[in-house]
Amino acid sequence: MTAQLIDGKAIGLKVQDEVVTRVAEFTRLHGRAPGLDVVLVGDDPASQVYVRNKELTSKKVGMRGMLHRLPADTSQTTLLELVDRLNRDDLVDGILVQMPLPPHIDAETVIGTIDPLKDVDGLTPISAGLLALGRPGLVPCTPMGCMRLLAEVGCDPKGKRAVVIGRSVLVGKPIAQLLLARHATVTIAHSRTTDLGKVVAEGDIVIAAVGKEALVRGEWIKPGAVVIDVGINRGPDGKLHGDVEFEPAKARASWITPVPGGVGPMTIAMLLCNTLDAAKARITAR
Ligand code: NAP
Repeated sequence: MTAQLIDGKAIGLKVQDEVVTRVAEFTRLHGRAPGLDVVLVGDDPASQVYVRNKELTSKKVGMRGMLHRLPADTSQTTLLELVDRLNRDDLVDGILVQMPLPPHIDAETVIGTIDPLKDVDGLTPISAGLLALGRPGLVPCTPMGCMRLLAEVGCDPKGKRAVVIGRSVLVGKPIAQLLLARHATVTIAHSRTTDLGKVVAEGDIVIAAVGKEALVRGEWIKPGAVVIDVGINRGPDGKLHGDVEFEPAKARASWITPVPGGVGPMTIAMLLCNTLDAAKARITAR
């Protein structure tokens, strides 16, 4: 079997098109566009690219996108004051503070200050708690993107064995919870998991979210499995690679995401969906 590629770029654009229609409808009904405010502290080169993309894409779909750039030596107090101001600004529907923050700033404190109704990254304790309870709330964008990719290729997790490799708050844990909510039988593997190959081999769905190039060996993949590779690793060749050994895994899987062009484009598309959902939820809550 040779897997079909899951084209995250095309699916991400499709989601963006859906958002354009929904944003136009929101703007017509409420007399203003949904607003996404992104905060960047410092000049980390990768973060600069990410935030610029978020700002540009939100504008492209008709939202009010605003980027707040703060110098690397910004104090935690100043950052918290900005978050507080954005929390209270009625035109702001989504707040995203780009990680990583400089070491003198406590990320958990900053995230915990974001109004959960505007938490489009889904990282506040309230958002994480709602997800754990299976209640509606804002869910981290990358896991949402993975679920959309599965849906797009007709993979219903119900009754399937899903193996998630990685247990981060940003990716692994929320993906596992979303899969559980869709009635998969979920195993979460991590750095202390013994015999990872045996665990992975059980997965009808394999989600790799580690950050180690080719950690997941192609020969571990169960024939016919759907493989979603979240990992982004810069290889010695200067190119981006996933966590999964791509060619041998492709030879066994039914569907597989490429890196780049798989999960990456979905993250930003889902951020737009979250911003729109947050805008609607705040209006409904009034
Ligand atoms: P993270 O916070 O560093 O978490 C990595 C996870 O991998 C941890 O749970 C760790 O286990 C586990 N791990 C490490 N070594 C392992 C091993 N040998 N075997 C099994 N598990 C192992 O990373 P993250 O934020 O979740 O991101 C994971 C990857 O996804 C990174 O490459 C990141 O760049 C990428 N990413 C991509 C997108 C996108 O849009 N495509 C978005 C977010 C992240 P322990 O908990 O035991 O330490």
